[in-house]
Formats: sequence, C-alpha cells, structure tokens
Amino acid sequence: MLKKDLDQLVFLQDLDMMLDEREEVKKLGFDVTGQKMLEDERTELANKISRPLLYTYEKLRKRYKRAIVPVKNSTCLGCFMKVPTSLSVRGREDAGVFTCEGCGRILYWIE
Ligand SMILES: [Zn+2]
Repeated sequence: MLKKDLDQLVFLQDLDMMLDEREEVKKLGFDVTGQKMLEDERTELANKISRPLLYTYEKLRKRYKRAIVPVKNSTCLGCFMKVPTSLSVRGREDAGVFTCEGCGRILYWIE
C-alpha cells in the first residue's frame, strides 16, 4: 500500500517536472502540446495519493526541484547524507514514509 503511494508520488514528480519543462519551453515562445493531458493526469494521480503525503510533497516542491529522492547504499541521493541504518531497514520494509534528516526530502529505497 505504502509502496504504491510512493510509486505514485514518484510518477507525480515526473509529471510535475514535465509540466515545468513545458513552462520553460513556452517562455521561449514555442508552442507546447499535451499540456492539458498532463494536467488531467496529474489531477487524477494527485487524488489517489494520501493527503498528508501529498501535502508534504507540495511543501518540499517549493524548496526543491525533486521532493522525493532515492536512497542508494544507505545514502540520500538528494544531499548525499548517510541515512541511519535503522531507518534504512524500516524504509525497505515499507514501514512508513521517511524523510531525510539532512535535507528533509521524502525517501524511497531502490536497493
Ligand atoms: Zn537528503
């Protein structure tokens, strides 16, 4: 369940980054297509994610381009701080949503 939430959040972030990209392209005076489709998809996806998690994500998005980052070799790939082993164990067991002590980003485990 939780893993699914995080997967959806990663997908949401992808959509947000695609939408951001389109904004940049638009600023340069080019036409963009598919905007509406992406926005609809984003709305639909956002509705599936639990409110508190979405709220944390939206808050982090104001600070970082990437609000959710992978953990590899017990290291947060957002700020490269070591993630405590106890957290890593629980994170891998899907025991909750964890944020990095260094940068505050939402973590997901890819190892
Ligand atoms: Zn971090």
